[in-house]
Amino acid sequence: MKVKSAVLTESGATSPYVESLPIKIETLDLDPPGEGEVLVNIKAASLCHSDLSVVNGTRPRPTPMALGHEASGVVDKVGEGVHNFVPGDKVVCVFVPSCGNCLSCREGRPALCEVGGKANNDGTLLNGNICLHKNGKDIYHHLGVSAFSDYVVVNKNSLVKVNNDIPFDKLALFGCAVITGVGAVTNTADIKFGSTVAIVGLGGVGLSALMGAIAAGASHIIAIDINDEKLKYAKKLGATDTFNSKDKKVIDEVLKASIGGVDYAFETAGAIAAMEVAYGITKRGGSTVTTGLPNPEQFFSFPYVTLTAEEKSIKGSYVGSCVPQRDIPRFIDLYGQNKLPVDELHTDTISLKEINEGFDKLENGEALRIVIDLSK
Ligand SMILES: [Zn+2]
Ligand SMILES: [Zn+2]
Repeated sequence: MKVKSAVLTESGATSPYVESLPIKIETLDLDPPGEGEVLVNIKAASLCHSDLSVVNGTRPRPTPMALGHEASGVVDKVGEGVHNFVPGDKVVCVFVPSCGNCLSCREGRPALCEVGGKANNDGTLLNGNICLHKNGKDIYHHLGVSAFSDYVVVNKNSLVKVNNDIPFDKLALFGCAVITGVGAVTNTADIKFGSTVAIVGLGGVGLSALMGAIAAGASHIIAIDINDEKLKYAKKLGATDTFNSKDKKVIDEVLKASIGGVDYAFETAGAIAAMEVAYGITKRGGSTVTTGLPNPEQFFSFPYVTLTAEEKSIKGSYVGSCVPQRDIPRFIDLYGQNKLPVDELHTDTISLKEINEGFDKLENGEALRIVIDLSK
């Protein structure tokens, strides 16, 4: 079938994207769903920094690539061997498909699926297939989803079924920002009730982590960013203190305000400067947790002795260490109880053709989550 998709022709574009136009809206050929695959009518898809990292070249990926991974939609058709979905099912997309058979999957850690990770790096679906073509040439998939498109074919393990009347534009955010941020707090760090928390980097993931920390009973929540507007959002969501990290003394100030540092510092910006702040404000015996995805050639250094003498730890968190089939439904339940106010992350709605402008806004920190309404 013919589909309309947002295709990145080449990585490494310079901003403003509204001038360099790295993403084009193209009509592509989409193969029907094969064995274990599902055709989904995408209803809403949001712009994430992981898309932006492919656009600007921070995360190297093969091109041309159909972008997008944070999305929701409705099952249109299922391929052979798919028994857990039927047409009409409401679904949220997951950006790491899991094979169920590798060591990580068998250990109950699908976010670390080796087969899914390789497929994502290669720009294919889980089984190595490429379903998108233009004039007979393959178009690579982004994170097994390629959601900036009216229809997609994905592996069944890239989907979680939802039995809830949550609107599609809000549901989309659960597939990346919410599971990454809330999961980092509740799964990776598994914070204690009454503990002290800091969030460094207040994009969709950082503010989701903040909501998770509040829901999990953190007593003191310090929000840190270089953008004052984002600090205002954090305050509105319940941060107890905010600090602008452009201030060179930010570490000393946070140490003073937190009386020696926080139990858990979450770094979500994927920037070395943010990691230095997060580690610097982690108290003796505390943990620094990062969800950042910097360029693979970047290295972060820290005073070696502090790991032992201060018993500090550094932990990575991918997909919020989530089991999406378990965690997305429970996070949606918490949203329904107003304990995760995800609506606050959704600042803008655009049409597919406005995507380059959307990425400018995201890069400039002028928006939190920008959702593409695929019905437009
Ligand atoms: Zn994402
Ligand atoms: Zn696996």
